[in-house]
Amino acid sequence: MIVFGPVPSRRLGRSLGINNIPPKVCSYSCVYCQLGHTIKMQVERQTFYEPEDILKNLREKIARVSEVGEPIDYLTFVPDGEPTLDVNLGREIGWLRPLGIKIAVITNGSLIWREDVKEELANADWVSLKVDSTQDEVWRRINRPHGTLELASILDGMLEFAAAYKGELVTETMLVEGVNDNDDQVGEVAEFLTRLRPAKSYLSIPTRPPAEQWAQSPSEEVINQAYQILSNKVDQVEYLIGYEGNAFAFTGHVEEDLLSITAVHPMREEAVSEFLKRAKADWAAVHRLIEQDQLVETEHEGVRFYVRRLH
Ligand code: SF4
Repeated sequence: MIVFGPVPSRRLGRSLGINNIPPKVCSYSCVYCQLGHTIKMQVERQTFYEPEDILKNLREKIARVSEVGEPIDYLTFVPDGEPTLDVNLGREIGWLRPLGIKIAVITNGSLIWREDVKEELANADWVSLKVDSTQDEVWRRINRPHGTLELASILDGMLEFAAAYKGELVTETMLVEGVNDNDDQVGEVAEFLTRLRPAKSYLSIPTRPPAEQWAQSPSEEVINQAYQILSNKVDQVEYLIGYEGNAFAFTGHVEEDLLSITAVHPMREEAVSEFLKRAKADWAAVHRLIEQDQLVETEHEGVRFYVRRLH
């Protein structure tokens, strides 16, 4: 299927997905990949589908969606492999422009050292780059890149791209227990992000069955720790953990709202108190969520936090 959706996405609203790469053709073989093992590992860009076919599929889909009056906020390149391996990506983005819908690309960033890839991504409205590690050894262990790729060039390429990019740049960092989740490693990612200056940095964990069984999520305490390290350096850090939380849409239902907020970020004790006061509720709601194992109480540098139970 080349075009799918629209699917609701916290980051992109109603997003129509474009699958411009056949299953698991990728420059990485991440240990946590929810699509399984990489079938074809490559760094050469090529034509996979004719751009005309993608456009035709997309036009038909958009017509069907608008017939039923559903809005589309983004056309998103989010394939079953790495979207920048598609040598026609730039042309496709150019052809989609006149449709008047914003365009997003979710990429691992491994080819961003190439001028053509930088130029093509620059024409998208929203780009997400993967930054799991800035340490060579850890990057190799978690992303298992194609043998010709070099982390230093990728990181430099990201910085160059970010400096010139006019759209909304976000990053995604997947935390895997025992691989990239210690304070030093997260601290280095945070340092890099201060230079990259993305509009938002998302922190995620493996939520669906990963390519490697051993690629597990760290504990809530470690995730909270990573969140705090990142937010000390960069402004907008949010969880991206598979729950469609929306910290800003209050339903008026205290427990549901607490779960929505903590699906996006951990809450300090003080913030919970304020929230409860505004909602004219008391701590019983929080205790109930803890008893139901939906919320966890944890501590970071002497401050108590409430975090969403993630696994
Ligand atoms: S970059 Fe994405 S598609 Fe490729 S292996 Fe990693 S998670 Fe899977």
